[in-house]
Amino acid sequence: MLNLGTTGGTEEAILKDRRYLWHNITPYSEQNPPMIAASGSGSWITDLDGNRYLDGMSGLWCVNVGYGRKELAEAAYRQMLELPYFPLTQSHMPAIKLAEKLNEWLEGDYVIFFSNSGSEANEAAFKIARQYHQQTGQPFRHKTIARYRGYHGSSMGSLSATGQAQRKYKYEPLSGSFLHVSPPDGYRRPPGQTLEQFNLQCAQAIEDMVIWEGAETVAAVIMEPVITGGGVIVPEQIYLDRVQEICSKYGVLLIMDEVICGFGRSGRKFGHQNFGLKPDIVTMAKGLTSAYLPLSATAVRKDIYEAFKDSTDEYSHFRHVNTFGGNPAACALALRNLELMEEEGLVARAAVLGERLYEELSELLEHPLVGDIRHFGLITGIELVTDKTTRQPAPLDTVKAIIGACKQQGLIIGKNGDTVAGFNNVLTLAPPLASTDDDLDFLIKVLKAVMNEFAGS
Ligand code: PMP
Repeated sequence: MLNLGTTGGTEEAILKDRRYLWHNITPYSEQNPPMIAASGSGSWITDLDGNRYLDGMSGLWCVNVGYGRKELAEAAYRQMLELPYFPLTQSHMPAIKLAEKLNEWLEGDYVIFFSNSGSEANEAAFKIARQYHQQTGQPFRHKTIARYRGYHGSSMGSLSATGQAQRKYKYEPLSGSFLHVSPPDGYRRPPGQTLEQFNLQCAQAIEDMVIWEGAETVAAVIMEPVITGGGVIVPEQIYLDRVQEICSKYGVLLIMDEVICGFGRSGRKFGHQNFGLKPDIVTMAKGLTSAYLPLSATAVRKDIYEAFKDSTDEYSHFRHVNTFGGNPAACALALRNLELMEEEGLVARAAVLGERLYEELSELLEHPLVGDIRHFGLITGIELVTDKTTRQPAPLDTVKAIIGACKQQGLIIGKNGDTVAGFNNVLTLAPPLASTDDDLDFLIKVLKAVMNEFAGS
């Protein structure tokens, strides 16, 4: 139990929280004090007052194996006693073993650069892409193409790649080297277009941009296999096939941001494997350690790494350093985390749970507020609208009220989209991959009951 150093309970903790802590994204609110989590077990979180909640978002889409895994704590503990730190300017065994394991999971030939967060993994990817082109006779390739609604991180470079106005608002101007195209949001495609035509048109926007910008200035395309935080936007296979084709046609590197989709969340080890893609660079974080410790990775195709390997001058190696990246305890824990997923068959389980969740929630399509339901493995998005014909997004207040009502009944769910653009109307679900059938029953029961309460609003 948390020792506050006083006799105070939750009330005092909240006072201290308000005085000393600056929260992520969430605005300060007198009316809505933060929930203060005290412990976790399986898919459940207990707060300071002893209330239990099913974490239908796995934290921030990251606690893939669930809470309270002794095996992970022990792996980190043992490694901390053995060797708590050594910089990856040199090497250590946990990083070597984990890099080898990641290669196995990636089913390709990659070399791994470790950092601590998804943002940093993407920063490393952007720098690697630029430097690679410079060292292979393409010095002007510095631009990166991303999609609106995609999220790639909070640091200035990864935020530049992010296509959500709400995140950038008040921090611009950012890097001018990042360009955006519209995502393949099939639910909002123009009337009369088939999904296939629309997806091809969205992919064509990337090729057009490469051509108009001048292919010799474009370093990379970055995308998640499926846009997660921007509203669970699932492309057609043909879209990603075309993206892969365009990238190879113009010599542009394809960076797959697997920060959320990776590590079983999609029902495959990595999201892009569902589409048979061969990315040049894969970035990952969150599920890599199931968020027990910070760790991220940038996996780079081996032949790209070759352009850095035998550098003959002082400036041709990758001149990037990350003090904590690849911390030995984090690597040892990540390795155990991947082993656990293998031992318990959690990747396949995510596919089964995801399918069940989607099927059982499909009846909500009859609900007056539900415009669309989409899923990718164990990620589900429920798009709320006020009018099913015009597809007018439901107001943020309604979305928040639904989330609040779920919380009242012990279920944490998320919302995603882009407030500035007027879309913040997608409820999101991403429970731990190790959720039990009872956990899923509870999630479905509460969500349906809450949605029923809102059927008349
Ligand atoms: N990419 C994606 C797809 C993400 O969802 C996130 C975080 N939500 C990031 C990158 C950035 O990760 P981090 O917050 O660890 O920097």
